[in-house]
Amino acid sequence: MPFEFSERLKALPPYLFKELDRIRDEVKSRGVDVIDLGVGDPDRPTPSHVIEALAKAAEDPSNHQYPVYSGMNTFRNVVADWYFRRHAVELKPETEVCSLIGSKEGLAQFPLAFVNPGDLVLVPEPSYPVYRSGTLFAGGQSVFMPLLEKNGFLPDLKAIDEKTLDKAKIIWVNYPNNPTGAAASVEFYTELVALAKKWNLIVASDAAYSECTWLNRPHVSILEIPGAKDVAVEFHSLSKTYNMTGWRLGWAVGNETLIQGLGRVKSNVDSGVFQAVQLAGITALNGPQEPVVAMGQLYQKRRQVLTAGLKAAGLSVFETNYTFYVWVRVPEGMKSADFASKLLNEVGVVATPGNGFGPSGEGYVRFALVQEEPRLKEAADRLSSLKF
Ligand SMILES: *Cc1c(COP(=O)(O)O)cnc(C)c1O
Repeated sequence: MPFEFSERLKALPPYLFKELDRIRDEVKSRGVDVIDLGVGDPDRPTPSHVIEALAKAAEDPSNHQYPVYSGMNTFRNVVADWYFRRHAVELKPETEVCSLIGSKEGLAQFPLAFVNPGDLVLVPEPSYPVYRSGTLFAGGQSVFMPLLEKNGFLPDLKAIDEKTLDKAKIIWVNYPNNPTGAAASVEFYTELVALAKKWNLIVASDAAYSECTWLNRPHVSILEIPGAKDVAVEFHSLSKTYNMTGWRLGWAVGNETLIQGLGRVKSNVDSGVFQAVQLAGITALNGPQEPVVAMGQLYQKRRQVLTAGLKAAGLSVFETNYTFYVWVRVPEGMKSADFASKLLNEVGVVATPGNGFGPSGEGYVRFALVQEEPRLKEAADRLSSLKF
């Protein structure tokens, strides 16, 4: 049958890691003990009290029916309380909070609510690919904002021309940042909120890693900036904070109209999050936070171990207090993909080539700290045997 993919599917960028996947399989088949630091998925299990809460909630037949689309009232209340505790931000649970089936679906569907065909959307790169694919699916056009090391991997807001600002609907930001690990400051968010107000722009902030830190406070939320709620929506998730990537639970909070638009799209596409999962999420958010603190310290230690090996090999590492990613400049004159292939072939370590996240990621690779410390030490030792 001559079935043909839609133009929107055909317009998606090609899958860049095919060649790397092929080499990994080939190296593995040679019997090499491959250490995979490629995928950004926490290796540790979900805290046991959260699993117990799910098991208990799953037994209750009242959780077996369709959930409320926008989330159980108790879940939305708990998210609002969490924001107040963590960020001193006040949210109305009924209108300013929406549950998500993991934040990815919210990020992907949000443009459908506010972007018309041909509208511009400001998208950082390198970045999580969903901002641009969601824009594409809504018929919008991504205008890329390069994140450069000399700017601390923040977009240069002053470099965006007025014509673009005039025609843009949404500006995406993601801090703490995947893939670079960079953080944003109160000053940056203040400038961003002012820009959004001036140009009638929606600020969509992806804060999936705000708790992934070893400092004793979370990364700043854009909603802490006075007036931010006039222009901003923030996406969050239990995935990285509580090692719950498989569970699919997140939320969007912020401006009432933005939450309402997203909720309307969602009510036409999905039917909300399994209530037992929401109840387990409540347990995670309201329960003891020691596991979150411990994960932060674990990632800090892992980062030190891997960074030591990278530095011994003569490589330059971007320093940060956030995320479980290590963003590393490849040696002068080399391409990201060639460097990643070399690591795999010569020392059996998988890293993700930076150009897979956008053209400005060329010249970097990303290591995810998702193996136990002895494995990372082994990776570090192997890496330090290379000299650049
Ligand atoms: C992992 C990740 C998410 C979270 O995805 P979920 O769908 O909530 O599991 C969101 N944004 C970025 C940048 C991520 O890396």
